[in-house]
Amino acid sequence: MKILVPVKRVVDYNVKVRVKPDQTGVDLANVKMSMNPFCEIAVEEAIRLKEKGVASEIVAVSIGPAQAQETIRTALAMGADRGILIQTDETVEPLAVAKLLKAVVEEEGPELVLLGKQAIDDDANQTGQMLAALLDWPQGTFASKVEIADGKATVTREIDGGLQTIALQMPAIITTDLRLNEPRYASLPNIMKAKRKPIDTKAPADYGVDIANRLQVLKVAEPAKREAGVKVESVAELVDKLKNEAGVI
Ligand code: AMP
Repeated sequence: MKILVPVKRVVDYNVKVRVKPDQTGVDLANVKMSMNPFCEIAVEEAIRLKEKGVASEIVAVSIGPAQAQETIRTALAMGADRGILIQTDETVEPLAVAKLLKAVVEEEGPELVLLGKQAIDDDANQTGQMLAALLDWPQGTFASKVEIADGKATVTREIDGGLQTIALQMPAIITTDLRLNEPRYASLPNIMKAKRKPIDTKAPADYGVDIANRLQVLKVAEPAKREAGVKVESVAELVDKLKNEAGVI
């Protein structure tokens, strides 16, 4: 079974993002970029399925600028077998990403596409669902446990009220939640080995997909600054403030 893992290059989760002075977006100049954490979890899960003998090949695919190749290399160093970079310097919205991934699925014929539940830059949480709709494949989103046997994927999903377990007929789409696994660090020998693994470079036009944006960003703004707190001397003073100043009790 072949697994396709889409991996997105995003601002590193440790970076405190700054909004550009003209409010058109987030400042990316000299900012550390990394693989989206939920995509790392997807790569880890794919590798575990390969280690269990369930999967035979893992293909990592990224849509983004030339530097997204580093993101694919990270996946290869973790244990993916080969990569596909669909190179573009344009912003690619989830619908266009899903259309490109559909074209890759049709070319590669994987039985499973394992995506992150969301990318931490735009927090869209859309690509996996859109891809499932475009392919008309079953989907298991927000997975915290995945088991594959007899042409079926059993997915435990994190939902508001607790956990839901569903069975999906393969081929299927699964998106990963935080508790699915803890991704491994790539070892130095594996980082060296990954340099020799193949990465195909393509363009969106090779798949005949129009990636023109359908959405217009009107404004990006910092969250309102939190006001400084006050120290109170006693419980009585706290209750008084809550009652008479904050009006919450
Ligand atoms: P989103 O719907 O943008 O929150 O992203 C959800 C998941 O879709 C990510 O965790 C990736 O697995 C995949 N994805 C989104 N954008 C890209 C991209 N540009 N390249 C590769 N995978 C992507």
